[in-house]
Amino acid sequence: MRLLSRLGRASLRVQIMLVFGTLVLVLALLLSLGFSELLRQSTQRSVGAALRHVAENANTLLADGLLTRQREAQVLASAQNIWEHGLDTADGRHLLERHKSLDPFNSWIGVAAPDGAVLNATGGMLVGQSVRERPWFQQGLAQSYVGDVHPAKLLDKLLPPTAYGEPNRFLDFAAPIRLRGEVVGVLGVHGSWEWTRHVLQSLVPQSARARGVELFIFNREGQLILAPAARDAMLEAKSQQLPAALASGGSDAPDRDSASPDGETAVVRWDDGVRYLTATTRLAARTTASDLGWTIVARQPIGMAFEEADRLVRLTLACGLAAVLLAWLLAWRAAHRLGHDLETLAGAAARVHAGDSEAHIPEMRSSTEARQLGQALAGMTQRLLAANQALEETVQQRTRQLQQALQALERQASTDPLTGVLNRRGFDARMVALLGLARRSARPLSVVALDVDHFKRINDTHGHGAGDEVLRRLAASLQARARRSDVVARVGGEEFVVLLPDTDVAGARTIAQALLQVVAEQEDPVVGRVTISAGVAGLRGPEEEPATLLDRADAALYRAKREGRNRVCAQA
Ligand code: GH3
Ligand code: MG
Ligand code: MG
Repeated sequence: MRLLSRLGRASLRVQIMLVFGTLVLVLALLLSLGFSELLRQSTQRSVGAALRHVAENANTLLADGLLTRQREAQVLASAQNIWEHGLDTADGRHLLERHKSLDPFNSWIGVAAPDGAVLNATGGMLVGQSVRERPWFQQGLAQSYVGDVHPAKLLDKLLPPTAYGEPNRFLDFAAPIRLRGEVVGVLGVHGSWEWTRHVLQSLVPQSARARGVELFIFNREGQLILAPAARDAMLEAKSQQLPAALASGGSDAPDRDSASPDGETAVVRWDDGVRYLTATTRLAARTTASDLGWTIVARQPIGMAFEEADRLVRLTLACGLAAVLLAWLLAWRAAHRLGHDLETLAGAAARVHAGDSEAHIPEMRSSTEARQLGQALAGMTQRLLAANQALEETVQQRTRQLQQALQALERQASTDPLTGVLNRRGFDARMVALLGLARRSARPLSVVALDVDHFKRINDTHGHGAGDEVLRRLAASLQARARRSDVVARVGGEEFVVLLPDTDVAGARTIAQALLQVVAEQEDPVVGRVTISAGVAGLRGPEEEPATLLDRADAALYRAKREGRNRVCAQA
């Protein structure tokens, strides 16, 4: 589980590589193992069949050979026209010699009297000696006899050594010599054991020997009686027995690895520790007498028997591994491209998220799905960015409109609607600002308070509209005379204030006087001449409050009214 969760956190590339690579590897291994097992089985069948064929051929040849030799002994024993003249005649000797010369593997042919004394023999060997104790003689008195291989006893010193330097070994064939129904002697043939070696060698050609194919003969007791020449010393030194698995014939024997379906070939570990594919046959004797109970065994070392199969398996494994590598390479490439596309998409999406208006989704190339995803994201991003921009523009526009409205409102709130100059509220704000400036810079500041003389009368005489008109013209006159830095405001019904920065009381007085003069000189078409009175006050110091300054100007104005109007009074 831990591994799975760790895998889940790995990159897509690693996940695809691991899952795909493991699958392909397991598949390749399973296929290779299955193929190699099938190949081994079929090889075991075909090689086993070939081995069995060799063993069966040897079986046939040996059985035929044994029968032929048995018959030869019988035929010689039944040469009555010779033996009726005695067993020790020259004709008899001639018959034996001629017959021996026909077959190089006949080592000795002789006849013995019923008491065991050899009367005649090829080469005159053993003549006069007794063979009474020999099994062939004893058995041959009664019936046709075939004796299993045994080392030469009496003849060993008389015969030349074998081609392989082994002691002479014989197969015995014997038959009773009967004359008129009476046994008068025994004919015996010692066939050289080299005959069997010759038969077996003729069945295993050089090419098969090079592939390690060998034939063995085990006797009835399971003892090795014939092995290929080079093997003899080693196997006999180890006193090789017929491998137990073959002797029992059961597939449950411990040293039997596997058997073919017909049970005649098996992989068997021999006494030399090597495993061989082994085929066995029992000697198919033609007669009861010639049934020596041999087991003929053909074998081939596993390594050589399966050489071709193993080579094919190695080739298959190599191809499988190459396929795995190729598959890995392709998977890595596909995963790399897909992973790269997804990383690019994630990066671009992160930039869009961060509000980067330059961010764009590049074209995906790894697969159709990735391309579609990229295109969909690109479309979405474009719409998102466009909507965002439109929203921003709208917000900016609305903010501008709002600011304009606010400014208009602000203007409205601080402007006198009748005259267009500042009202009391607007004046107070400017007053505070200019007073602060004057305090900081220690420059003078003066205020002129103005009031229309007998305005009530104007209203009463000419109407309220005419009064309004007088007020509008007065404001325009004040505004026209004022400097850009001066502030003109209507602070009451027919009361105005002019704030004069950088102007001391004397300067203010002069300006007020000039204003009074301008107004007094104007001739209104409806109401005629109008006069105004003015009170001037200058800022006394940084501590003075605006209200006090205005009060002092008002007081001066009050004084001007009292002193007869149309005049300027100042308060230092
Ligand atoms: P004084 O010379 O002492 O200043 O006498 P006055 O008549 O000018 O002073 P008063 O304070 O007695 O009268 C002011 C008049 O101004 C009273 C009012 O009807 C008038 N008035 C105030 N506001 C307006 C306005 O907006 N338009 C008009 N037409 N008349 C106004
Ligand atoms: Mg007044
Ligand atoms: Mg007045």
